[in-house]
Amino acid sequence: MTRSGVRTTVKVRIKAEVITTRKRRRLEQITGRDTRIIKQYLKVIYHNEERLLTKKKVNKAKLDHLTLTKYKKNKLHNRPTVRHDLKKNFPRCSQNELQECRENAVAIYHSQQANNSAPAKNPPLKKIPRTQLAHAKRFILTCSPSNSIARWWVGIRNSLDTKKNKTSKHEKLWLPLACSPYHEHNLNLGKLQALEVLYYPKKKEWWVHFILLHVPEKYASSRPPAVLGIDLGINKRAVSALLTPKGVINRHEIRFWSDKTRKKLQKETERKIAKLQNFLAKTSLSVSNINSLLHQLKSLRKSQRTEHKLTDHTYVNRLVKYILSVGKRYDLYVVVGFPIHIRKSHYRGNFHPYSRKSIHKWNYRRVTELLKFKLSLHGWEEYRILAISESWTSSCCSRCGSYHTIRPNQPTFICHTCGYNLNADLNGAKNIARRLIKYVLQPQYTSIKDQVSGKFFPLSSFRVFPVLSQWLQTKQNHLLTPGAGVRA
Ligand SMILES: [Zn+2]
Repeated sequence: MTRSGVRTTVKVRIKAEVITTRKRRRLEQITGRDTRIIKQYLKVIYHNEERLLTKKKVNKAKLDHLTLTKYKKNKLHNRPTVRHDLKKNFPRCSQNELQECRENAVAIYHSQQANNSAPAKNPPLKKIPRTQLAHAKRFILTCSPSNSIARWWVGIRNSLDTKKNKTSKHEKLWLPLACSPYHEHNLNLGKLQALEVLYYPKKKEWWVHFILLHVPEKYASSRPPAVLGIDLGINKRAVSALLTPKGVINRHEIRFWSDKTRKKLQKETERKIAKLQNFLAKTSLSVSNINSLLHQLKSLRKSQRTEHKLTDHTYVNRLVKYILSVGKRYDLYVVVGFPIHIRKSHYRGNFHPYSRKSIHKWNYRRVTELLKFKLSLHGWEEYRILAISESWTSSCCSRCGSYHTIRPNQPTFICHTCGYNLNADLNGAKNIARRLIKYVLQPQYTSIKDQVSGKFFPLSSFRVFPVLSQWLQTKQNHLLTPGAGVRA
C-alpha cells in the first residue's frame, strides 16, 4: 500500500483472434522495439553506474544527458550530440515513449539491485513491457456497446506509423478486449493510471494489464470498528465472536446460539415420522388405511417444515437483537461463514451417511438470507452483512494460523503447534472474522463477493480495517514469540 492509495492491476485479454495480421504484426513490432530500448537503457545505466547514481538512486536527468539530444530556441541549452544517441537508433520512437522506457529501465535496475542476493522470483520475460501512462491521452479506453466485435476497446499509440516529416500525426492502434462484467466492475473501481501490453508465449495470447490507483476514503466514525464472525452449525445453531481493536476477543462477546426446547420438538416429530414410515413399510394394510396413514404423514411433514422455519426465525431474531445491541457500541460488520460446496462433497457413497443426512437437512442459506433481510429492515447497508466462504476455517488455528490441528470429536479443536484447545465452532467463528480483514488488506483484491446474493462489494466500504489489522498483527507477533502464549 502506498501513502496515496492502493495500486491494483486488472488483466484483460486482447481478442487476438479477431484482429488483422497487420495489427498483430504492429503489436509485435512495438513491443519488440520497446524491449530493445529498455535493454539499451539498462546497458547504459550499468556502464555508467558511478556517474549516474546519487544516494543509490539513478539520476534521470543525468541519464537523459547521456541518451537524449535536445534542441531549443535558446541555443545555450542545446545538446546536439550525446554519447548513446537513442533517438538516432530508434528514429520512429517519440520522446514520450523513450521516457516511458527510461522509467521502466530505472525501475528494473532498482529491483535488480534490491534482489541482488536473492534469486529472481519470476523468470524474466522475453519481452519487457513498457508502462504507458494515461495522462495526456497517450492511450484511450472506450466502451462501444453496439459494436459486434467487442464491447471494450483500447487505443494505444501506433508509433511505427510516424511519417518522417515532423507534422505527421500518430495513429491509434485499436485493440478489442475480452472484457467480462467482472473486469468492467474492477475497472470502474479506481482511476486508470497506466497500461502494459504483454505477450504470453506459452499461452500464445496478448494481454493488457491496466494499472489503477485506488484512493481510500477517510474513515470517519465516532465508534471503533469491529467484526462479528458467525459460524453456522448444525447442533449448535450458530457461534458468534466479536473482533475488536481493543483487546483479545472478549469472553463476554462470544455467544453460542442454540434452542433446546425447539430441538426437542423437532426430534419428536422426526420420531413420529420414522415410526409411521416403518409401519407403512412392514404391515400389509388395506387401501383406505394406507391412504389415511399417508395423509397423516403428509400433515406431519408439513408441521415439520413449519417448525424448522419457526426455529430459524426465532433464533435469527435473537441474533439480530444481539447484533443491534453491539452495533450501538461499534461500527459493526457482520461476516457469516457460508459453506459453499458442502452438499456436493457429501454425496451418496462417501462413507459418511449420518453426516450427509444432517448436512442435507441443514438450511444455512435460509438462515443467512433471513439475517440479511432482518438487518436490512433496521436500515443496515447490504455490505455490512457478508456471507463469505468458510472453507478451511474449521481446520486452521485461530491463534497461530497453523493447519497442524485435529478434531478428536465434533465440538473440540486442538492445535498441535501452539496447544490451543477450544470449541471447534468458536475457532471457526474467529477465523471467519479474521478472514474478512485478510481479504480487505490484500492489495490485489478490489472487491469482495457476497456468496448469497452473488454481488461484489468494493473494498472501499471496508476501509476501517487497517486499524483492526494492526492490532491483530501485533497480537499475533506477540503470540508467535517462543514461550509466550504456549499452553502445554
Ligand atoms: Zn495454534
